[in-house]
Amino acid sequence: MQGIDLHTHSNISDGALSPEDLLQFAHQKAIHTLALTDHDSMDGIHRANLVAKQQQINLISGVEISSQWHRPNTKKSYGVHIVALNMQNPEPLEQLLTQQKMIRAQRAKEICHKLYKVTAYDALDDVLAMVDGHADRITRSHIAQALYQKKLVNRLQTAFDVYLKQGKPAYVALQWVDMAQVITTIKQSQGFSILAHPAEYDLSATNTRYMIDLFAHLGGDAVELSHANKPLSTRQMIDRSIAQHQLKVSVGSDFHGEHMPWRVLGQVPCLTAQQVGIWELFSP
Ligand code: AMP
Ligand code: MN
Ligand code: MN
Ligand code: MN
Repeated sequence: MQGIDLHTHSNISDGALSPEDLLQFAHQKAIHTLALTDHDSMDGIHRANLVAKQQQINLISGVEISSQWHRPNTKKSYGVHIVALNMQNPEPLEQLLTQQKMIRAQRAKEICHKLYKVTAYDALDDVLAMVDGHADRITRSHIAQALYQKKLVNRLQTAFDVYLKQGKPAYVALQWVDMAQVITTIKQSQGFSILAHPAEYDLSATNTRYMIDLFAHLGGDAVELSHANKPLSTRQMIDRSIAQHQLKVSVGSDFHGEHMPWRVLGQVPCLTAQQVGIWELFSP
């Protein structure tokens, strides 16, 4: 899938590059079709598009939406990221994102407050400086970077493992929007719904299959292929679910920048002979 990358971040969320610099970098990497998919925001797309036009890159509108699903009869909910691509009418989705941004801004303050109680470090001002004061752009990655810069952790992953992930002292449980509503709203926006990185939710095989079944029944369009660092057995299981529900597939690097060097712009998995790329359905 050379030249296609449908999952990338700019500094409108937790990426390192501005939307303009991301597109310049994509040009250097000979990418011809790129989606900018910041967390819960489409605010970088207009800026990215100005460079995309100059560089003759086909920029696909996108966003990675934090959402949740649950199994009937259990109270437990599971987080899932849905990537929305190629919206022809962004308005319904923009309305949903307004809600998401409010949740994100409020959560950042609560995380910093909890963190202060256990570290005596008030991260909020440092984190706000990273996002030009836009509290609704703050992700846990930013808070992890602040902890790293203050030398309170020696790796970003340690910040998640010790403070930020579920069960840890600065974790804030959230009511993100339901996966069903996300898929419905993406349809209203005339875009495609992609189940992002299905192997990255720490789910059992049973729950991973259940999540893909549910996504398909709710009208989801495609599943993002996993990278080769995931076990072959997991990737094959996901391939079987994709085939069973006749879902399309998407490919993306989830590029963030040099602070996550294992995600390389334009480096994406290959499709099997039977799989069909969602980009085949994009309008010209
Ligand atoms: P948020 O949407 O604010 O929860 O933050 C999402 C970002 O945090 C993602 O881009 C991930 O790269 C990063 N992240 C989330 N969970 C973990 C984890 N357990 N370990 C490392 N990074 C994580
Ligand atoms: Mn991220
Ligand atoms: Mn994600
Ligand atoms: Mn992502």
